[in-house]
Amino acid sequence: MENKYVDVVIEKTKKIALIAHDGKKAELLDWVVRNKEILQTHFLCGTGTTGRLIQEKTGLPVKIFKSGPLGGDQQIGAQIVDGKINMLIFIWDPLEAQPHDPDIKALLRIATVYDIPVANNLATADFIIHSRFMSEEYVHPIEDYSKQITKRVEKF
Ligand code: PGA
Repeated sequence: MENKYVDVVIEKTKKIALIAHDGKKAELLDWVVRNKEILQTHFLCGTGTTGRLIQEKTGLPVKIFKSGPLGGDQQIGAQIVDGKINMLIFIWDPLEAQPHDPDIKALLRIATVYDIPVANNLATADFIIHSRFMSEEYVHPIEDYSKQITKRVEKF
């Protein structure tokens, strides 16, 4: 691949963000319980309510950010930018409008920009968590945006 790209490593221990809207929290919690054995070998974090719910009901350690509507989605987006989160399980509710819709879009966008695995429903979450890449290092090329910045600065 030409040098427009840079290799980014997703280590063996994944840094997973867990988020569910209110109508989907019980489903996500059940999924976490079902997959506790696998999840406990990775780093977990989540938005305020989802994170606390998972921590309290499963006993798994979860780094807790602000609640989604209070900026938690944006905090998680910033962590993806910094490489501190490299997997997103975001069970959003397709049947309920959210006050922080722009933040949700921003988070989904940034997860795509940084090419991290994203599940927006539990079937996808199952496929991800049972992938062989969960137990090994995964290297993926992403666009080297620092090169783009250099080019853009040179234009002015
Ligand atoms: P919450 O945030 O975990 O604090 O509910 C998630 C959301 O609804 O965006």
